[in-house]
Amino acid sequence: MITPLVVGNWKMNGGQAASIQLARQIVRLLKNQPMCAEVALAPPFTALASVGQALRQSAIKLAAQNSHWAESGAFTGEVSAPMLGEIGCHYVILGHSERRHVFHESDAMIARKVAPVLAQSMRPIYCVGETLSERRRKKTLNIVTAQLDAALKGLAKGVIDKIEIAYEPVWAIGTGQNATPEQVDQVHSSIRAYLKNSFGDSKGKAVRILYGGSVKPENASILAAIDEVNGFLVGGASLNAESFISIVQAFAPAAK
Ligand code: PEP
Repeated sequence: MITPLVVGNWKMNGGQAASIQLARQIVRLLKNQPMCAEVALAPPFTALASVGQALRQSAIKLAAQNSHWAESGAFTGEVSAPMLGEIGCHYVILGHSERRHVFHESDAMIARKVAPVLAQSMRPIYCVGETLSERRRKKTLNIVTAQLDAALKGLAKGVIDKIEIAYEPVWAIGTGQNATPEQVDQVHSSIRAYLKNSFGDSKGKAVRILYGGSVKPENASILAAIDEVNGFLVGGASLNAESFISIVQAFAPAAK
């Protein structure tokens, strides 16, 4: 039985004070709930250390939104995996669609970031997903497979269970238009088949596949009920503590 993972990606929202306040609110609200999922919060870089402090007495994990592949050096504006490990990050989101499409990170660039994150004993949350035009051209599965290949091909079998995959159709992120349960089911099943083929049955079925793209309290239960959905990567709705908690609750045993 896979423990689901729900990650709040706060993107570039909230300074230190607002982030600490939101983190504390989530800690307080979750304390009174049975733990039905693992939870992680990904605040902006400037708030990572202080949100880490706010999460210290809780089971909620700290996540970063990105990292660079190099340990250090002349990379103005970047943050490295060792820097994130040092302040207690547990997860690092890699290849988020905004990194791919706004900042033009290629498959090859993102693939280089996986090993440094693992080397710090952190877990990459590797994002994949097609654009609207790729979906319309029926290229979804080709694109997702190519993105998986770029980062996972050649990875040691013993390492795959230290990685989470997030399927995030680009057209569903921040648009309010989420994928239908059938679309999610099709892509998640195909990712599961890829993982089993590449890493063997038992390793392949243990990897968590998260869905992301306009997950909200209103649609979380129906998406959480899909067999191969093992968690969510939540953007907009994670900026409100009550909404985020109600999304986490979609994985309560009675709901799933
Ligand atoms: C995201 O940022 O990964 C995301 C899925 O955003 P939203 O939930 O706002 O669509």
